[in-house]
Amino acid sequence: MISDIHTLIIGSGLTGLSTAHYLKKAGIPFHVIEKDAGPGGVIKTVTENGYTYELGPNTGVIGSSEIVELFEDLQGLCELETANENAQKRYILKNGKWEQLPSGVMAGIKTPLFSLKDKFRLLGEPFRSKGKNPHETLSQLVKRRLGQSFLDYAIDPFIIGVYAGDPDILVPKYALPKLYNLEQNYGSFIGGAVKKQFEKKTEAEKKITRKVFSAKGGLSNLVNALYENAGKENFSFNAVNLQVLPENGGYRVSWQANEKKQDIIAKHVVFTGGSFELPEVFSFVEKGNLEKITHLRYAKIIEVTLGFKTWKGIELDGFGGLIPSKEKRDILGVLYMSTLFENRAPEDGALLTIFMGGIRNENLANQPDDKIKEVVKREITDLMQLTEFQPDLFKITRYDYAIPQYEVNSGERFETIANLENQYPGLILGGNMRDGIGMADRAKQGKMLAEQAKNSRI
Ligand SMILES: Cc1cc2nc3c(=O)[nH]c(=O)nc-3n(C[C@H](O)[C@H](O)[C@H](O)COP(=O)(O)OP(=O)(O)OC[C@H]3O[C@@H](n4cnc5c(N)ncnc54)[C@H](O)[C@@H]3O)c2cc1C
Repeated sequence: MISDIHTLIIGSGLTGLSTAHYLKKAGIPFHVIEKDAGPGGVIKTVTENGYTYELGPNTGVIGSSEIVELFEDLQGLCELETANENAQKRYILKNGKWEQLPSGVMAGIKTPLFSLKDKFRLLGEPFRSKGKNPHETLSQLVKRRLGQSFLDYAIDPFIIGVYAGDPDILVPKYALPKLYNLEQNYGSFIGGAVKKQFEKKTEAEKKITRKVFSAKGGLSNLVNALYENAGKENFSFNAVNLQVLPENGGYRVSWQANEKKQDIIAKHVVFTGGSFELPEVFSFVEKGNLEKITHLRYAKIIEVTLGFKTWKGIELDGFGGLIPSKEKRDILGVLYMSTLFENRAPEDGALLTIFMGGIRNENLANQPDDKIKEVVKREITDLMQLTEFQPDLFKITRYDYAIPQYEVNSGERFETIANLENQYPGLILGGNMRDGIGMADRAKQGKMLAEQAKNSRI
């Protein structure tokens, strides 16, 4: 038996590791239990045959100061890598052709992505009245403020890229709170964005550059550095049948590892897994309450990694391309990973990541590998203008629970989590069921969870 502990963390993905990092910094004893054989959760980098590729997330956005802080604290163990300036160029498919997403006024006027009517309507955006329905969907909000063509050829592909989701279902108050608050606090997206630029920033806010990032050599270097820095002795892997039960004002946590039963008593239990894991782990919590959390839907995703020793397709001079659902293609988008980061493919070669499935195309995500290979070959040959399709790396990775969808029921979920934490002092429910889905959100939440455990009165 591991001796009693202040905080027990369930899960060693980026959220669990960030929580461990901040507890370690605060000098608070903790232990991390993980069912996988190693740390990182969905983050996994592979290096083979001249390629360095990701099996989970490929790139993040520096959208919180905490993600920068992690790299600062881990200096010497891993290094932040921001993407090549080319990352600014993003392509959207329209009528089967890649069009660059405009970044300036002139490009915005000229772009064929949006209708002339909507371009004119944009001038009136700062004067449109703000929405009153907090449960308005993203499609409704965008149509109201910007127009249908902006929904179809900017927001829809953006949401596919971030959530593998559907703007008809996602609710901005929960899924894109920054955008929602621009309208609520400033009355306009454009006006709000301009005003925010002139607001005084704290030192922490200055770190939020919104640049695209990875870790040098791949994201596994970040999670491995977090693991090492937190102290390997503070982790237990291969844990199955994990159960948490209240006991004497704390919690008894039991699990099996390598067929041996283990037990630990913890004052605080921080959960960082998916919502679908909750009923098994917390069998003492009333079923009706858990259902208000477990109804969270996740997008199924297939991630395909392609490596080419010599690239003979279109110029890969950007972040990649996203495909609006209106285009009715069988892939969601392509990332040009070898353009973004150093040493990801052999010289003159290319590394691409392709995403398939998502909320609108779940059926495709259920297809066998042969079918997936056929679809990828057809789509990539056409979209990348390849004369022959001969990758020397072709890797398929499947996720049944890839990205949680913050839909209309999210408010009820957040409220239920808060009520449960009140009802069971010391129980802390984190993970991507709340507080955002990106890696920067996970680092930020990790700090918050550590503070919650540290400041708890029990
Ligand atoms: C395919 C894909 C692409 C993505 N792309 C991007 C991207 O481009 N940019 C970006 O910012 N984000 C992206 N994300 C999201 C980002 O990867 C995640 O938000 C983040 O890595 C999740 O970290 P986490 O620790 O919350 O969850 P996870 O990584 O899922 O870790 C949870 C851990 O808890 C463990 N666990 C769960 N239940 C138990 C239990 N009962 N007992 C023991 N252990 C348990 C799991 O085994 C797992 O290791 C992507 C995600 C996926 C899946």
